[in-house]
Amino acid sequence: MITKEEKRQKQKQGMLENVMRQFNNASDRMGLDPDIRKILRITNNELLVHFPVKMDNGNVEVFTGYRVQHNNALGPYKGGLRYHPTVDLDAARALAMWMTWKTSLAGLPLGGAKGGIQIDPSHYSTAELERITRRFTFALGDNIGPELDIPAPDVNTNAQTMAWILDTYMSTKSPNERSTNLHVVTGKPVGAGGSEGRDRATGYGVYLCIKFWAEHNNINLKGRKFIVQGFGNVGYWASFFLEKEGAVLTAVQDVSGSIFNSGGIEVEKLERYMARHDRKIAGFPGVEVIDNDAFFALDCDICIPAALGNQITEKNAGAIKALVIAEGANGPTDIQAENMLLDRGVAIIPDILCNSGGVIGSYFEWLQNRNGEIWQLEEVTAKLRKKLRESFGRVMKVMEERNVDMRTAAFIIAIERLEQAYRQRGIFP
Ligand code: GLU
Repeated sequence: MITKEEKRQKQKQGMLENVMRQFNNASDRMGLDPDIRKILRITNNELLVHFPVKMDNGNVEVFTGYRVQHNNALGPYKGGLRYHPTVDLDAARALAMWMTWKTSLAGLPLGGAKGGIQIDPSHYSTAELERITRRFTFALGDNIGPELDIPAPDVNTNAQTMAWILDTYMSTKSPNERSTNLHVVTGKPVGAGGSEGRDRATGYGVYLCIKFWAEHNNINLKGRKFIVQGFGNVGYWASFFLEKEGAVLTAVQDVSGSIFNSGGIEVEKLERYMARHDRKIAGFPGVEVIDNDAFFALDCDICIPAALGNQITEKNAGAIKALVIAEGANGPTDIQAENMLLDRGVAIIPDILCNSGGVIGSYFEWLQNRNGEIWQLEEVTAKLRKKLRESFGRVMKVMEERNVDMRTAAFIIAIERLEQAYRQRGIFP
């Protein structure tokens, strides 16, 4: 029997291995310049910090935080901060690389980074999390910045976390820099310089990608069944919009278990329940509790992994019934599983496209802060839809022209843009 620690270790190693294999595969297909390949296969900067924080009981605990900056050839480093026990250097490296491909594919003037703290935030009070976040921000110092590296929410971090980072960053700057640094983080609360629509941007983007995919394949989403792993910000908003479209949420899995109802689970009802129950699905009434291992094998049309990496593996891929997997999470499908699924004709909308609505929303927030503008929700939504439609269209085109799968097509587009930037700029000195 494998221990929890071994499982975590495997998951972390797996992510870096996964992203490298995806990168190598696309690079081979497109015949990437070997010198540019050498640059892109490695990260630019890797920061590891240890910092002490006083706990509520007066004891001091020392935490480990990471920020990995993979590439900034196209613009400032960009990517989230996650608070999770699986966060370490390799995990941050993998996730930072995915950010580079994601921002490049979306056509943004941004690079890729990722980081976080190796903790289980459920073990800490809100006041402790605030102090941990502020002290982490202080430890990052000038390694982040509005024109250098811009963090955002990720697993177990949210708008509140970003507000603490902003406030700490501002408080440690000289007075004349304080009010011009709002764009040091994105995903802030709207009242603290955040953008309308950023909260739903990732999930809305997941929904849009599913809708574009369905249109492309002449499929009507009405009555289609979908299952969601992870009912955080991404899972919830994707479900919200799919339900509005007439699709039916039949199963959800989170850290507290798996629930199923063939007749449908009401999205708002579940969200309200979770708000009252520690953000967990366990105990939700009117559903059948099923075995976690049975989750991915459920009968459905759309499967949305919106939790952590390496969830769909050779162990469960064979049993998946969905027509399409929409990757709300980063790296949820490993290479072996992907090959098995593609062989069976299951479509996979890859993470760097499927969940790119989040970073596109972040880009809009960053632009508004930088230009002193405030956009209405309709404007943000319309711009997001336009950008995602373009990305989706580009991916479909390359997929058909080069006869590759959707992920390889997305990677080729992303890498080609970076290749061009390096070719035109040359290598210093
Ligand atoms: N954490 C999100 C992601 O993985 C958002 C990153 C951002 O907005 O910078 O794409």
